Amino acid sequence: MSKKSLLFCASEVYPFAKTGGLADVAHALPRALSESYNIQVVLPLYASIDRDKYSIISLKNSFNITLNTKPYEVELYGCKYEGVEYLFIYSALLCERDFLYGTPSQGYEDNALRFAIFNHAIVELLKQKEYAFAHLNDWQSALTPLLIKHAKNIETKTLFTIHNLAYQGVFAYEELFNIGVNSSYFNIDALEFYGKVNFMKAGIAYADAVTTVSPSYAKEILTPAFGCGLEGFLTHHNNKLRGILNGLDTEHFNPNKDKLIEQTFTNLTQKLENKKAYLKEAKLKGIKKPLFAFIGRFTHQKGIDLLIEVLESLALESCNIVILGDGEEKYQTQVEAISQKHTNIHFEFKYNEPLSHRIYASSDFLLMPSLFEPCGLNQMIAMSYGALPIVHSVGGLKDSVQNYKRFNAESPKGYGLAFKTPNADSFLKVLKEALKLYGSKKEYNVLVKHNMLCDFSWSQSAQLYKKLYEEL
Ligand code: ADP
Repeated sequence: MSKKSLLFCASEVYPFAKTGGLADVAHALPRALSESYNIQVVLPLYASIDRDKYSIISLKNSFNITLNTKPYEVELYGCKYEGVEYLFIYSALLCERDFLYGTPSQGYEDNALRFAIFNHAIVELLKQKEYAFAHLNDWQSALTPLLIKHAKNIETKTLFTIHNLAYQGVFAYEELFNIGVNSSYFNIDALEFYGKVNFMKAGIAYADAVTTVSPSYAKEILTPAFGCGLEGFLTHHNNKLRGILNGLDTEHFNPNKDKLIEQTFTNLTQKLENKKAYLKEAKLKGIKKPLFAFIGRFTHQKGIDLLIEVLESLALESCNIVILGDGEEKYQTQVEAISQKHTNIHFEFKYNEPLSHRIYASSDFLLMPSLFEPCGLNQMIAMSYGALPIVHSVGGLKDSVQNYKRFNAESPKGYGLAFKTPNADSFLKVLKEALKLYGSKKEYNVLVKHNMLCDFSWSQSAQLYKKLYEEL
């Protein structure tokens, strides 16, 4: 029997373009599904994507999309990379930019139009070839389910995944006339959001199924504390909402195969070689001291404020701390000021993938005090690389990190330290526990070894997605 076709649509896909976890998911999930489906992954061909490196070629397929009486030329490109087929949408207005969505402080002013072009181009692909399913991701491709409802002769079933509800693609009312959507959709059941246009709402309202990236986050977003204003709307559509935990690309994040680290490893003696090399690189001293790491975007979501609050107290303990991140400048300034005062803190304000791998491979604990976390990948990477995660128990962190105090060697899940209330006192308390745990090396090692043997791959979650597509 021939496989059904699936078009996986995302605004960023590793290794072509990445700003966060979505790119990792859009890279790994299609691979995990490719045994069951005939998959194509589609993304914009941003100017930053190296066409030669990935042998991206023109498919000699171009068409115009007319929005607000203006035609925008779209050209399709394609490549095959590590066995997966990729389609790229090129339109000058969408692609010729320095950043994907905007500078770190501000999104581009014409993002509504840019990503409307992306969505209309996806619909064109669905017209050109019969796809059983289209999997849309986040606000950048959320208009597609609505556009399909309006188009004739498209039978494709749609699944829309919310990776982060904090980014909804909300634009001024006037944009309604630029995005090629009938203005009758400007109502409370569709695009309208406090007088503005909300792309995410279109995905939620019109997709055949909606998922988010962990079961806990699926529940949390129905509440005012996490719903970002859409809790009522999501509750209304709750019957088609489900949470499926993300997995890791275990080819890319595999300490036994990782070419980006000093020494590949399967045990803690080998891991120590990485710690030795990294401490030297970061000019930190004390191989016997625990190394705490933070890797992530400098935004409120990631609990940077909490980290800053506890940083000095932690630095006064016998340990080393490494912080790798980029994002908001105000956080950079604060972290820099503290790290300059303490020789045991090493701070790098940048985005650097190879460096992040070296840090995962070297650290003993990974700090993840996120205020909310749809899924989070760092904690899973940390567990596979033998670093115990210290997390605020929320969203995907709650679903993937079990409290070490309830350790059960038979459990297929990983362990770490967790705190329930997101304040400095609770965070500090658990940091102190971590120091104590590191002191009783035997218990610490049992936990780390258990985590390193856990399966964080996509295999289980891909089956859940498959089941969901088939239910459609
Ligand atoms: P989010 O998508 O909210 O940023 P996730 O935990 O889902 O968070 O994914 C973050 C991904 O980005 C992980 O692979 C993490 O290692 C990586 N990452 C985050 N910040 C940096 C950085 N400054 N340098 C390198 N990699 C980073």
